Amino acid sequence: MDAHTRATRIKMIAFDIDGVMTDGSLIYTAEGTELKTFHVQDGQGVKLAQRAGIDLAIVTGRRSPALEARAADLGIAYLFQGAVNKREVLGKLLEKMGLGWPAVAFMGDDLMDLSAMVRCGMAIAPANAHAEVKARAHLVTQLGGGKGAVREAIEFILAAQGKLDGLVASYLDA
Ligand SMILES: [Mg+2]
Repeated sequence: MDAHTRATRIKMIAFDIDGVMTDGSLIYTAEGTELKTFHVQDGQGVKLAQRAGIDLAIVTGRRSPALEARAADLGIAYLFQGAVNKREVLGKLLEKMGLGWPAVAFMGDDLMDLSAMVRCGMAIAPANAHAEVKARAHLVTQLGGGKGAVREAIEFILAAQGKLDGLVASYLDA
């Protein structure tokens, strides 16, 4: 099944953070606080997905107040930090929501993401992902993590579902 067909069935998109919503840089202040850089166009992509009725989740192995602030900013309610087994964490959420794996896309960049990616209906990797991850993805974005890759992935799914043009058109008349 090709990526386009897989995308038509997606009702939820789950994301890794470092290397996907960021370029993978971990910036520490002298006090040890971790800083992250997010791309504003990815944020707009999240808003588009929400308007289209697609649920969003974040499943990351790390923990950071910066991410909590960004997730709150974007209205992403399903935020799982410190996830050791991403498939297990995501599986529990799907059970709670009554969603099946084929309806879920997972976007990740490294080996920790593979357990969830290979289970989901659609596996997405940003351009900067590890080669082993890209090899198993149904879609590899042209843009890199933290550089608009999330926006590209969301728009691919919205376009496959025939929702992108209408959403863009709504901004012309806003
Ligand atoms: Mg990562």
